Amino acid sequence: MFLPNFLIGQNCQLEEAMLNSGLQDIQKSLPKVLVELRYSGTNNFAGQDVYGCLSKALARPEVLTKLRIAFQFLQKKHPGFTFLIYDAARSSSAQKALWNAIKLPESKKHIYLANPKRGSIHNYGCALDITIAGPDGKAIDMGTEFDYFGELAQPRCEGRLLKSGKLSQKQFDNRMILRSCMESAGFLTTSSEWWHFNSCSLSKAKASYKVIP
Ligand SMILES: [Zn+2]
Repeated sequence: MFLPNFLIGQNCQLEEAMLNSGLQDIQKSLPKVLVELRYSGTNNFAGQDVYGCLSKALARPEVLTKLRIAFQFLQKKHPGFTFLIYDAARSSSAQKALWNAIKLPESKKHIYLANPKRGSIHNYGCALDITIAGPDGKAIDMGTEFDYFGELAQPRCEGRLLKSGKLSQKQFDNRMILRSCMESAGFLTTSSEWWHFNSCSLSKAKASYKVIP
């Protein structure tokens, strides 16, 4: 659900606390980047709004610096395309709520979600869930939706999925556009989710920043 900022911005204590801890509003720095926080609403795997009033994509300044570079790459190579952010800084309490809500066997949950006991790089404001939107503002075809739990979403399987036709050449190429822009800017990829990018390792995030409670 999208509400105008004047209705929510003033009273969201979580958002204020996150901004006060040094996290920054991505759209304030990069207004052309689109944001649709999936966990701030019910259009997510949990079917629950786990973010409440938080509706902004917030991240550490180092993430913004890299994202600005990635965006410049994207605009240079594909004018008219922009980024669409599904998730950015995530509180530890939201991490727990998602962990409890994910409908997977206990032994498989960690493939798609960091165990809250260990912590996610999202919990330090150093990770982004992101895709590319076309000129119409809609996400381009990446072969799966965000938060698709299966090997079709896993970069480690892409070569095989392309060969077998489960992933089309276009879908594969679209993922490569996203990945090349993000990697060129210094983001790290994961082998299990095409949409997830880290600005640094979990150990570096833990050493550099306080976890978002
Ligand atoms: Zn993620």
